[in-house]
Amino acid sequence: MDSCLFCKIAKKEVPADIVYEDDKVLAFKDINPKAPFHVLIVPKKHIPSVNHLEEVDKKLVGELFLVAQKIAKQKELKGYKLIINVGRAGGQIIDHLHLHLLGKGPTELP
Ligand code: AMP
Ligand code: ZN
Repeated sequence: MDSCLFCKIAKKEVPADIVYEDDKVLAFKDINPKAPFHVLIVPKKHIPSVNHLEEVDKKLVGELFLVAQKIAKQKELKGYKLIINVGRAGGQIIDHLHLHLLGKGPTELP
């Protein structure tokens, strides 16, 4: 979607601190971190929220979780939380599906 911030980040039209990228998924530092380690994992495809997922997105959703696992392993996180907010009442502000990965060190992002 043209006006979507995370689509713009995925297209590199808006800068972000990218920590992981492949052909379908992007992960970047949250601009307002709520934990020592806080990244957002997003599909490059514009999907507004969990409520908008379709059968065709099944594999992509799995990939978001595998990317979370990969980043946590690479950053040597001891443990972490994965959060997905859905809808305004669920705390979702950006209408592009994203997984919050929140954790503590030992390796924290600079
Ligand atoms: P949510 O409330 O689940 O929609 O989360 C949106 C998240 O996006 C918040 O934690 C914001 O801090 C984060 N955010 C907003 N704008 C940016 C940006 N330009 N770069 C990185 N993170 C952002
Ligand atoms: Zn989008």
